[in-house]
Amino acid sequence: MTSIVGIDLGTTNSVLTIMEGGKPVVIPNAEGQRVTPSVVAFTDKDGILVGESARRQSLLNPRGTIWSIKRFMGKRFDEVSEEDKRHVPYETCDQLNGDIGVRVQERVHSPSEISAHILASLRATAERYLSRPVDEAIITVPAYFNDAQRRATQVAGEIAGFKVRRIINEPTAAALAFGLNRTKDERIAVYDFGGGTFDISILEIGDGVIEVLSTHGDAHLGGDDIDQCIVDAVIGEFEREHRMSIRHDAMILQRVREAAEKAKKELSTLVQTDIHLPFLTADSTGPKHLSTSLTRAQLEAMIHPLIERSLASCRQALEDAGLKAADLQEILLVGGSTRIPLVQQAVERFFGRAPNHSLNPDEVVALGAAIQGGILAGEVDSIILLDVTPLTLGIEANGGLMIPLIERNTTIPARKNKLFSTTVDNQSSVAINVYQGERDFAAQNRFLGQFELTDIEPAPRATPKIDVCFDIDANGVLRVSATNQTTGKEETLVLTGAGGLSDDEIRSAIVDAEAARAEDSLRKERLVAKNKAQSFVFSIAKLQREYFTSADDALNAHTTELLQRCEAILSSDEASTEDFTALSAELSACSRQWHELLHEHMAQQESQQNTSESCASHETTDGQN
Ligand code: AMP
Repeated sequence: MTSIVGIDLGTTNSVLTIMEGGKPVVIPNAEGQRVTPSVVAFTDKDGILVGESARRQSLLNPRGTIWSIKRFMGKRFDEVSEEDKRHVPYETCDQLNGDIGVRVQERVHSPSEISAHILASLRATAERYLSRPVDEAIITVPAYFNDAQRRATQVAGEIAGFKVRRIINEPTAAALAFGLNRTKDERIAVYDFGGGTFDISILEIGDGVIEVLSTHGDAHLGGDDIDQCIVDAVIGEFEREHRMSIRHDAMILQRVREAAEKAKKELSTLVQTDIHLPFLTADSTGPKHLSTSLTRAQLEAMIHPLIERSLASCRQALEDAGLKAADLQEILLVGGSTRIPLVQQAVERFFGRAPNHSLNPDEVVALGAAIQGGILAGEVDSIILLDVTPLTLGIEANGGLMIPLIERNTTIPARKNKLFSTTVDNQSSVAINVYQGERDFAAQNRFLGQFELTDIEPAPRATPKIDVCFDIDANGVLRVSATNQTTGKEETLVLTGAGGLSDDEIRSAIVDAEAARAEDSLRKERLVAKNKAQSFVFSIAKLQREYFTSADDALNAHTTELLQRCEAILSSDEASTEDFTALSAELSACSRQWHELLHEHMAQQESQQNTSESCASHETTDGQN
């Protein structure tokens, strides 16, 4: 059986999967849930929490609870809109060489490090479930993620201790899950509307090959934006009614956001819902409660422009694939936001057919990731995946123009090269600036990296031949090289889009994460030892309470002294696992004495009972006589 797990690292929730008996299955987390909230909390008392326990304490710790980190993966600080930064109650900053970071209690964490906590927790879940080490993973990303965002995701996996076997696109993963065991030739669209991103992919399935024809999307369009519409409306109404401003208060915002998401979900099945937040704030006139209602029609009016944006991407994806909506045989819905009735209606109207509801939109991406793991492990051979690169890759030419080398929607892996030359006589070096995006001017696209090819022989302009080669692997990760064809000298670009972390920093984050894992297991050991001692204390205290009078003074005195000592040790933060283990040994001896006493006591009672019974029978006999 393969140990390559599949992970859908979602903006809102993450899902873990594995191939079992030739089928992909979801691995439930420690709480028995099939999805784990993508939330990490830094707490004073309990250290780092991940998942439901992190989400649960978010109201009390809004600045230390990090959610929707996926929105910031591989992003530079100035690339993220003010609106997106305001959207979260925690503090973002640009202290990682221009890349965005998250500051929690004076420490700046990169988005990769935060995501690594989620991945490490999923890894622990997988190891518990499989009872063996798990260190290989397939991680999914939105198709529309650029190179820096993919690299940042890969780095997160590495920090969590995974060898990331493949980064695959979410809609492609969904198509894999859908296409497994399908024999019909068909063209399908995967409409993926999740918590933070929107993706559309057009694919062709046939003869065991899944080929992505085109992909498009919007990395800033998701369920979070719908929640934000509700938050803005509800807060606006409250502020108008009470003539006070509450937007600056992180805790209030968090309460309203949670209520907004709940209302949104309810409106997927109900036509009206209420939002009640008692004691939201207070002023000199007393406490202020928020109480309002929201209808499905109101919500639909608010989110109509967001859904239209998703349809614009669908139009572009169809055009890129050279197809019309009527050419498609199936429309798959992926992502929690596709549960919204208006989204389903808009998709049906746009594509002219009812979407396919046969797959669970929360799990299908992760199931596809497990299948990809099965393919790499040689366990699944009935299907081949041909994915595409979502954005054009190229270099900056003289005058700032973007020269594409690999056009968007090229099937990957791909390798393309082009000859370039010098622009002035006797130019001894050329700078290669690599960009990703669809704009004509390089500066308007995403800068990926730069390197220089030096020692070019003196020659008139346009004479030296520099061969620039772009090599994009199956993960969508790019390597760029430039070779002087005269001298054979070659330079290769080492991409640095690793979420603000240098290679050294990544290595040290991996070491830290390993140490944290070791620390976690030590913490767990201590807890187990402490629990054991504590349960002895409870049972001995109970025995002493119940049989105090039957015990001799020495045992009572020893027990009282021991229990007092236990109280001090068990409440001490300084006490070690060894202290608890030593205590348990003493408690065990003491417990034995009480149990011996108890047995004696019971034996005595039994013999007294027997004696009285036999006396009674004598009396009866006598009486009869
Ligand atoms: P995903 O990234 O696929 O886990 O999708 C998460 C997003 O789906 C979040 O914004 C959720 O609030 C949203 N979502 C989940 N269930 C529903 C529902 N029943 N109605 C509307 N949105 C939902």
